[in-house]
Amino acid sequence: MKSARRHPNADAPILWHAVSWIIAVHLCGAFGAWYLWTYFHPATLALALCMFIVVHLSISAGLHRLYSHRAYRATKPLELFLVLFSAAAFQASIIVWVYQHRMHHEHSDTDRDPYSVEHGFWWAHMGWIWRTKVEVDPALVKDLRRNKLLVWQDGFHLQLAILMSFVLPVCVAGVLWSDPYGGGFVAGFLRLVFQYHCTWLINSVAHTYGFRHYESGGTARFTPWLAISTMGENSHERHHLVPEDYRAGVKWYHLDIAKWFIQMCSVLGLASGLRSMPERAVEARAQRSVSRSQL
Ligand SMILES: [Zn+2]
Ligand SMILES: [Zn+2]
Repeated sequence: MKSARRHPNADAPILWHAVSWIIAVHLCGAFGAWYLWTYFHPATLALALCMFIVVHLSISAGLHRLYSHRAYRATKPLELFLVLFSAAAFQASIIVWVYQHRMHHEHSDTDRDPYSVEHGFWWAHMGWIWRTKVEVDPALVKDLRRNKLLVWQDGFHLQLAILMSFVLPVCVAGVLWSDPYGGGFVAGFLRLVFQYHCTWLINSVAHTYGFRHYESGGTARFTPWLAISTMGENSHERHHLVPEDYRAGVKWYHLDIAKWFIQMCSVLGLASGLRSMPERAVEARAQRSVSRSQL
């Protein structure tokens, strides 16, 4: 790994609320691992796994492919599902998340990319979170500001995150099989620790390790071993070339689970206007990207 240059935000004041939250989540997650080992209940483990899958699909098909890249259109019931369950990822509000992600694409691998791997593996993985005070440029998210559901979510994202990430699993496990602590610490905190790192792995590992089939010149790669844990976001080089394509991976063995979810929603009439790019267009963009990087 080559030595990294310092990101401009790395000298910003530490956001202590973000540091405290990340430490607290990891400590509670460790307690959740101990609790799971000591008071194992199969239904609690199944709840944690189901929540992980549904929430990660909501990040990938919702925050990422629908809202950040407009790769397809969703009906209101599907939007409501994606908004509610992506809240359990306990990340920023959708508008803030999308703003940062659009900056990541528009300014990839530069000082304006908030989680650029060129500024260090750990900076890209999680270091940026406690140094980056976000000021959203309204021009970059004006399409989202027209969506009343997203404006409402922006105002209530913390309450919604607590409700979906913790209150929901505590109630489900507490009422159905009398394991409220398992619901909170295993399906809540322990699941959230995995959810965080699986999201961050795309910014760190998928920008550092893996294959560059298109030789596009950027840091994004195809990282096969991250397929399941990221719901298919691991075909990251292709995604950086054609972010408007609802598919990150095009071959069946790319295991793009979010793509299959969007296709299923389309069959059920919940999604429409799925955008896709032919491989020759992807290769042409890769060529242009190489030419630009050589200027
Ligand atoms: Zn990326
Ligand atoms: Zn993207």
